[in-house]
Amino acid sequence: MFDPLLENPEFATAMFFILGALLGSFANVVIYRLPAEKSVVRPRSSCQSCGQMIPWHDNIPIVSWFLRGGRCRFCKARFSFRYPVVELLTACLFAVCFAIDGWSWSLLEHLLFIWALVVCTFIDFDHMILPDEFTLSGIVIGLVGAALNPERSFLDALGGFLLGGGFLWFMAWLYYALTGNEGMGGGDIKLLGWIGAVLGAMAVPYVILVSAVTGSIIGLALAVGQKRGLKTVIPYGPYLALGAVSYIFGGWTLAQQYWGFFLPN
Ligand SMILES: [Zn+2]
Repeated sequence: MFDPLLENPEFATAMFFILGALLGSFANVVIYRLPAEKSVVRPRSSCQSCGQMIPWHDNIPIVSWFLRGGRCRFCKARFSFRYPVVELLTACLFAVCFAIDGWSWSLLEHLLFIWALVVCTFIDFDHMILPDEFTLSGIVIGLVGAALNPERSFLDALGGFLLGGGFLWFMAWLYYALTGNEGMGGGDIKLLGWIGAVLGAMAVPYVILVSAVTGSIIGLALAVGQKRGLKTVIPYGPYLALGAVSYIFGGWTLAQQYWGFFLPN
């Protein structure tokens, strides 16, 4: 029997795009409710302004926001443009992830990981925190995943966790010893430990490099553009997440070539 999901990659990619859009919609709920310590399951979404329940046909990911011009059907209050952006972003990330991984154990792990990174990125932008609900359970899920996934090695995941968490922990300790100020948040330490647990030890130096470079460029641009000076505090989590996702999307080949110079076998 012909199975379009298995035998037609374009159809499967489209399905993962739709799955990503739906889970992106759920990501919006978590981004908004988790830091406010509200339930992410109930009640159903309602307008912040007039309190009316949003009907399901106004809650279709990406599409509904544009159909309604970004406004509430009842009171015409504006809904943030970020809702469709998060949905479209998650949809694209899921489709690309499937195109790269294909049907595999790693696909399942990567989709879960990428979804969680999207949520953490926007919570970090909004509140400068990375919730333990994600980072700590991410570390556990990453290590358990490595033990179950025949495509990964548990020791590599454990090494990645220790290297990632250990490196930022040491940097935070050093910064504190030198300046007496706390520079690096504990959330960033746990996040890089989580990234190491999911992507392995070889990913850690790559993710540090990518996040440091992109974080510095954007941090400098903000400091100059908004004239807030170099003391501008920017969240570091989104850049770590960017490094991690770009590693899945091909950065690993660069890291492999780089390590190939030092480790010929
Ligand atoms: Zn309303």
